[in-house]
Amino acid sequence: MSVVDTTPASTAPALTAREEELLARVPDGLFIGGRWEAGSADPIEVSDPATGRVIKRIANARPEDGIRALDAAAEAAEAWAATPPRTRAEILRRAFDLLQERRDDFALLMTLEMGKPLAEANGEVTYGGEFLRWFSEEAVRIGGRFGQNPEGTGTMVVSQRPVGPCYLITPWNFPLAMATRKIAPALAAGCTVVVKPAELTPLTTLLFVQLLTDAGVPAGVVNVVPTSNAGALSEPIIADPRLRKLSFTGSTPVGRRLLAQAGQNVLRTSMELGGNAPFVVFEDADLEKAVEGAMLAKFRNIGQACTAANRFLVHESIAEDFAARVTAKVKALKLGRGTGDGVTIGPLIDDRAVASMGALIGDAVARGARILSGGNAPDGDGYFFEPTVLVDVQPGSDILREEIFGPVLAISTFATEEEALARANETEFGLVGYVFTSDLARGHRMIDRLDTGMMGLNTGLVSNAAAPFGGVKQSGLGREGGAEGIHEYLTTKYTLIPA
Ligand code: NAD
Repeated sequence: MSVVDTTPASTAPALTAREEELLARVPDGLFIGGRWEAGSADPIEVSDPATGRVIKRIANARPEDGIRALDAAAEAAEAWAATPPRTRAEILRRAFDLLQERRDDFALLMTLEMGKPLAEANGEVTYGGEFLRWFSEEAVRIGGRFGQNPEGTGTMVVSQRPVGPCYLITPWNFPLAMATRKIAPALAAGCTVVVKPAELTPLTTLLFVQLLTDAGVPAGVVNVVPTSNAGALSEPIIADPRLRKLSFTGSTPVGRRLLAQAGQNVLRTSMELGGNAPFVVFEDADLEKAVEGAMLAKFRNIGQACTAANRFLVHESIAEDFAARVTAKVKALKLGRGTGDGVTIGPLIDDRAVASMGALIGDAVARGARILSGGNAPDGDGYFFEPTVLVDVQPGSDILREEIFGPVLAISTFATEEEALARANETEFGLVGYVFTSDLARGHRMIDRLDTGMMGLNTGLVSNAAAPFGGVKQSGLGREGGAEGIHEYLTTKYTLIPA
């Protein structure tokens, strides 16, 4: 059913029949209390970043729609919390199975609205799906404990209860996985949710909530309100005393603002914020492995990942060799629309991202960096930027301080382990670090002393649904995934029963 006026745009894109058919099947409404609804008169226009053209118009939620979504979540909360864990687990497991069946739709849809190459979109279906499977398994293992108090006068019972209605805000870069990483543990814990997907990539969440309904999630348990005015929609929801938890994935500046708002009602919060990952290659590293890790940590998702390696710190004795090997691989990458044959680098998300790559490279070069490959935005449609290698990046360059969020690999050198460590920790962020060395003792020293929530030792990819994902410092609060992930949605209750 269509709840939005879908008059064709004058800029109608040249979509394939398969793409047209899929986009026509994606719901275009707000999902509140188990029903599809229209939003305000001005729909959200979703574009394909490979062409810049509008591919679908969807309903745009107003602040009053957000409050109605919270009404629905609050109304459904008690019954969902009382639903047996086994039932909640089985619904999540069904959602996992359905996602495998509908894998091709989700992968293609993510490529269309976000731009990532189809193979990577498929990888995200796998990764995103694992949160459904993992938390279906965790739902029935919500423990507690009991024991005699030290005085011997009573029994102490500690149990875990769902925290209550949650507001989940997701970014555009992993449209499926960032949603499942929040929705699955919330539902497993017995919480109901209002989800606000990113305005740039809301379609995947809309298709996903339809899947959840098909899997048996009752009305009101998951509500979805895409909007073009995130601040206006979110403020009243966060200020509403019925809300119990805010979980946000996005940039650190927005995270700071939301934390301040959440402070008013002393909300539980999870904050998965920005990163500025160091990628340290020691002189004793297996260089081929380091190069492979670098390609993955830098160019996955077109460099648009919070875990993307941002600062390559390479020992001065091997820097030239490392840069030459990486450059050869970068030159072999294929830029294009993510659906194209053999494409390994898709477009950036929008024109601001393209401009930002140009500015960061310009500043680095003005301070003495050299370009070994790339460096430009090609002519033509879409928001493409050439994969780029920079060497001799000087301290003080913007590219070392800011999150690049694009396909630019910036190399600087170091002389000693102490220097590498000091430079790696020289950031307000602390999400993940990558270290390549064949010296195990050195590896352990880096694990101990690197100020990050996660670390890859001789690998460029750490994400796993069974692992606690999250950062320290201004990269955030809380963990998603792993045994820790469900506790973000549970609250501890202690009861004393006198003997
Ligand atoms: P963003 O902060 O601009 O937006 C994230 C979400 O917040 C979007 O849904 C957006 O609509 C919403 N938002 C923006 N302003 C808001 C406001 N005032 N009130 C409420 N919601 C608001 O970030 P982005 O550009 O979508 O995503 C990229 C950022 O996300 C990067 O910094 C990246 O590192 C970070 N990120 C972090 C993780 C992690 O797990 N740590 C994962 C993915 C992305």
